[in-house]
Amino acid sequence: MSFSFLRLLLRDNWVVDELGATELFNQLLPTMPWNSLMDQMMKELHSKGTKIEDIAAVLKRSPIHPRIVEAIKSAHALGCDLKIVSDANTFFIETILEHHGLKECFLEINTNPGFVDRQGRLRIFPHHDFTKSSHGCQHPSCPPNMCKGIVIERIQASLSMEDPKKTIIYLGDGLGDFCPSLKLGDGDYVMPRKDFPVWDLICKNRSLIKAQICEWSNGEEFKTVLLHLISRIISVEGNNTSANIDQLYSVDCKLETMSLPAATAPETFPQALHDYYCRLALTTSDIVVIFDFDKTIIDCDSDNWVVDELGATELFNQLLPTMPWNSLMDRMMKELHSQGTTIEDIAAVLKRTPIHLQIIEAIKSAHALGYACIFSFIFVYMEHSSACHVFSLGNDKILKVLVLILSFRCDLKIVSDANTFFIDTILEHHGLQECFSEINTNPGFVDEQGRLRIFPHHDFTKSSHGCGPSCPPNMCKGIVIEKIQASLSMEDQKKTIIYLGDGLGDFCPTLKLGDGDYVMPRKDFPVWDLICKNRSLIKAQIYEWRDGEEFKSVLLRLISRIISIDGNNTNANIGQLYSVDCKLNTMALPATTGHEAFPQALPVLH
Ligand SMILES: [Zn+2]
Ligand SMILES: [Zn+2]
Ligand SMILES: [Zn+2]
Repeated sequence: MSFSFLRLLLRDNWVVDELGATELFNQLLPTMPWNSLMDQMMKELHSKGTKIEDIAAVLKRSPIHPRIVEAIKSAHALGCDLKIVSDANTFFIETILEHHGLKECFLEINTNPGFVDRQGRLRIFPHHDFTKSSHGCQHPSCPPNMCKGIVIERIQASLSMEDPKKTIIYLGDGLGDFCPSLKLGDGDYVMPRKDFPVWDLICKNRSLIKAQICEWSNGEEFKTVLLHLISRIISVEGNNTSANIDQLYSVDCKLETMSLPAATAPETFPQALHDYYCRLALTTSDIVVIFDFDKTIIDCDSDNWVVDELGATELFNQLLPTMPWNSLMDRMMKELHSQGTTIEDIAAVLKRTPIHLQIIEAIKSAHALGYACIFSFIFVYMEHSSACHVFSLGNDKILKVLVLILSFRCDLKIVSDANTFFIDTILEHHGLQECFSEINTNPGFVDEQGRLRIFPHHDFTKSSHGCGPSCPPNMCKGIVIEKIQASLSMEDQKKTIIYLGDGLGDFCPTLKLGDGDYVMPRKDFPVWDLICKNRSLIKAQIYEWRDGEEFKSVLLRLISRIISIDGNNTNANIGQLYSVDCKLNTMALPATTGHEAFPQALPVLH
């Protein structure tokens, strides 16, 4: 019931041109790949005194049509999953998205890593490290550092594991957008920008494209075509689900809420718009589960594990008093690299990291639980359409003519002081990567020499993050939680946070949790001690856990309980229609853990 669509946002030339480096750029272009050239250009600009703030200022001026901003926000509000696949870089994209308040709209940004190093120079690395191997796509329109087609295939593979059919809408303009267009299937849509390179290629190769093609030429068309397309897809799915939707709810009313003129149905649509009926899907997640990683998801500290397993413990202990932990890990990776340890050796060690089977199951179940709920509530709301009042959209007229689907989703995030390389490698190895919508940690990646670099989440060489002594200089998890809370507060539905952790650094985020939230400290670990000594400071309800078994049983019961409480608030019938027991059954949990017995069964902290 959610869609993915992707779009190219800006061109590298904007920054280079605005900073007056066009001549040098054109001079160097024939000598190296575009991606390497951009890194080189940032070096040149940095050496000439261009600051990161100058680059950010230029990015914020980059032209973006207001209708495109509106279209993205509307598509997000409609419950579509939005993703970016771009050959730009994370720094450029995030700066622009943030500036326009769009960052929270996107679930995923696939692009070249870009970040500021210690010298304040923006470094840009390839999405695919072509110095080591080719990405394997032979298509001449794919640059060596990124085949967007491969990214689409990965997204398709992850979507195919989910139950409801997913429709992809792909928007693009450049040569690099042709390869992904070829990967789209029968039911998908491609929106090439008219008179741009990908449009030319598609026109010349119509027979190769399985997806339906809807062109657009400017911001206005971007918005109308995209939103009409989404409405249409929702209505087609709605018809499959229940015939009654047709009579109850027409599409025109949604178009009004989107402030679109009803008369602008593009001719690319085979049928007239008034034939379509829709529902508004609010796929915003109700429960956000935030996990610490070390000693919470995995049963050790990943930094210590890697250092110990690679026999560098002595050096580590020797250097520890001389620098912050985060800088030391970067240094240790340098030492190991100079001694011949390859990135494959590190990955092999990471794949051996101890992780409890029940924890893997718990994460997969929590992730799956969200989707299971969507279906159940579809039926609830079809039968009880009066339940629309729960959505505080502020306009009764609109509510009366829209079918609203309440979709309880469990959104899983990680907040960790490890690093992206360690976490991604471990999650991927256990098939858990798709379960998490967000990983907040220190950036870690492999440089040109094949050395793993680890950078701080917060660059403490420039400024302090401003939080107290229990938080290391490179990361205050409390600030990350506040950021997540701020983004949640912009959405309509009530959100409940469950936070799981073990370490000292998990105490600060625990203090940020509110009345309706939950904290799950690991018993007899530092954060548990701190919580016990400071009970009066904690607003969230506290549920302790000890091992993998308890991690699973406490977390899954807590989620079931939150859903059932919310359900009771929303509509008394939901309690009968959809009891916790039946959900527990679908999750293969013992049916004996009945709803009534449940609160007592939880190990509440005394
Ligand atoms: Zn390709
Ligand atoms: Zn931890
Ligand atoms: Zn803090």
